[in-house]
Amino acid sequence: MYAALITGKETVEMVEFPHPTPAATGVVVDVAFCGICGTDIHAYQSGRAYNPAICGHEWSGTVSARGADVSSVSEGDRVVVAAAPSCGSCTACRRGQADRCQVVFLSTLGRDELAPPHGGFAPHIAVAAARVVKTDPGLTDEQAAQVEPITVAFHAVRISDLRLGDIAVVQGAGPIGLGTMQWVRAAGAGKVIVVEPNPQRRDLARALGAHHAVTPGEEAKELIAELTHGLGADIVYECVGRSFAVQSAVDMARRGGSMCLIGLADGDAPINPSTWLIKEISVTSALAYFHEEFEMAMGMIADGRIVVEPLHTSTVSLAGFADALADLASGTSDQTKVLVNPNL
Ligand SMILES: [Zn+2]
Ligand SMILES: [Zn+2]
Repeated sequence: MYAALITGKETVEMVEFPHPTPAATGVVVDVAFCGICGTDIHAYQSGRAYNPAICGHEWSGTVSARGADVSSVSEGDRVVVAAAPSCGSCTACRRGQADRCQVVFLSTLGRDELAPPHGGFAPHIAVAAARVVKTDPGLTDEQAAQVEPITVAFHAVRISDLRLGDIAVVQGAGPIGLGTMQWVRAAGAGKVIVVEPNPQRRDLARALGAHHAVTPGEEAKELIAELTHGLGADIVYECVGRSFAVQSAVDMARRGGSMCLIGLADGDAPINPSTWLIKEISVTSALAYFHEEFEMAMGMIADGRIVVEPLHTSTVSLAGFADALADLASGTSDQTKVLVNPNL
């Protein structure tokens, strides 16, 4: 079996692995689709050595084998990759911080002993059984492959300071921004404004329910001023993931408003502390998700409140993975979410 691995700067290699077998507490999943994430693009652009289990972390598939001690899923079950439930016995769990379980954290980063030596850009993958959740029967495998990133956005909005009726800004309309925008709407924002330079992505944001989609800078500033009587947005979600975007998110918020950091910028970000202090900005930051949030997010995709199909712009084979990654990394790609089908 061959898996596609990002092995260096702008380098993808097809590496041969034996057909995986499940650990006693593990499963083998036949991968249906694996989405290409911003993290994969970062790894490809930077050449930094990422843990091999990290690249290709957005997959759906079907359980093809399970270990002797697994009862949560069976062969033939459709599943999505998820965070494991809290362990109950690590130091964090025992101190009442089960949401920050250290065992879950390491396994999500692919640093536990059951971590596979590759990600989901492969026809089969072996993981801990705790790391899969049964796919909602209302979802296709393509939709299921988008559950992981949509749950990142779900978690961020769920823990943010959003209140019913708020004027909310989503900065950046990539897959995470477009997901966040939909959750913000579902959570009861009064108006949702998407700020995005790419005109196609602005159109997509409007089609998915954004009340307004504008370019960054003056246009955004004027619209937010008009909608808020000059005060600024109640809450701004940062979904760009570039260093300049942290301060620009705070610049759009009102005094006493809030900024939710979702996009992950490499390195340091310049900020203007006096604006943060003068505005008394509250900050929430969101990393990944909790185990129980996968079922919640899938339920709201299945009932149509959240739409993921328009984000999925193309499907490629493993052989087409390197070209798809190069296109996404170019900065001028027309793609939003590219799924890899390792069976093509
Ligand atoms: Zn991802
Ligand atoms: Zn724990």
